[in-house]
Amino acid sequence: MKHLIKKITAAALLAAVLFTSVNISAYAQTAETNAKTAEGETTSAEATTGGAIAVTPAAITVKKTSIKSVIPGKTSVRLKLTSSGKGKITGFQVYKKNSDSDWVLKTQIRKSKATYEDTKVSYGNSYSYRARAYYVDEDGNTHYGAYSKTVTVKVTIHQEKIKVKDKKSILYGKTIILYKYGDGKVVTDPTKYVKIRPDKYVLYVNKSKDYVTAYAVSGKNLIPVKSFICSPGAVTPVGRHKTLTKYRWHELLGPCWGQWCTKVTKDGIYFHSIFSSKRNSNSTISVRAYNKLGTTCSHGCIRVQAASAKWIYDNCKVGTSVVIYTKNGYEPFSKPSIKKIPSWHTWDPTDPTAQKLCKKHKCHKYAKK
Ligand SMILES: [Zn+2]
Repeated sequence: MKHLIKKITAAALLAAVLFTSVNISAYAQTAETNAKTAEGETTSAEATTGGAIAVTPAAITVKKTSIKSVIPGKTSVRLKLTSSGKGKITGFQVYKKNSDSDWVLKTQIRKSKATYEDTKVSYGNSYSYRARAYYVDEDGNTHYGAYSKTVTVKVTIHQEKIKVKDKKSILYGKTIILYKYGDGKVVTDPTKYVKIRPDKYVLYVNKSKDYVTAYAVSGKNLIPVKSFICSPGAVTPVGRHKTLTKYRWHELLGPCWGQWCTKVTKDGIYFHSIFSSKRNSNSTISVRAYNKLGTTCSHGCIRVQAASAKWIYDNCKVGTSVVIYTKNGYEPFSKPSIKKIPSWHTWDPTDPTAQKLCKKHKCHKYAKK
């Protein structure tokens, strides 16, 4: 028993010596844990009594923790945990403040350097975190370091204004405003987060990469807001055009029919959805043509997904500028990807008027917009 008290007291003393900035409840908890580890039934009250016994603490120190950087990303907050000071550490504990302002232990990471990613966050809200390092000694006793400073972070996006210096880019010399997440990644659809009220829109069709970028024009600045995978054709005319008219449904060469058609040139180049073989039918599209989106394969029109055609139809007034080009330089957004559809899926999964079919077949989660 004497030996036990000695050992416990050593642990308790050690805690007192090392963790001067840790709060009282943490001491008690530490002592209790230590006591249990040592014998299984000794209480923390016993552990903290015993007077001054000259026991030299073993070479155990716990480094102080700092949260080096906090990165709010798309739907997560990432904390980089490092420690400073001397001594070994076993790992970190990360605490998050809950809605009652209580600190809740979220995780314990057994690494001497760690990144913690909190995905239980939502856009526009703020969250507070703190962390501490711990060390488990050879007797299995856990020692905690001081808490880091509390860090509070808002999950949000920010603007960056840049002047395009790439001479190979169609945007060379222009000033664009990008929205970025906290981790520096470009937001490819900032309208999900912020209200952008442009003077007008302008559509850039990259014929060599087969996608469209829609920019909101705001004074002298361009704000990229959307990108659409597309299929232009070899004969799609490069240059600057202005849209001429729009049709909800329109008969195209074939004969076949397209939805949300926006006329780009008087020769009959349109933006339109993947064509259907039956008049005004949203359930007889060419699956082959849909699956070829992202390649240059049309007879000249610029085919896009139904949701993209609708966006252009709904947002771009007649007279909207359309720039068609083949340059390979800087683009704010990279080419969007697309998932192929099976041969029986004869409707466009992004078509809001066909979502019943996807629901019936339980095939696509229809995006609300
Ligand atoms: Zn579907």
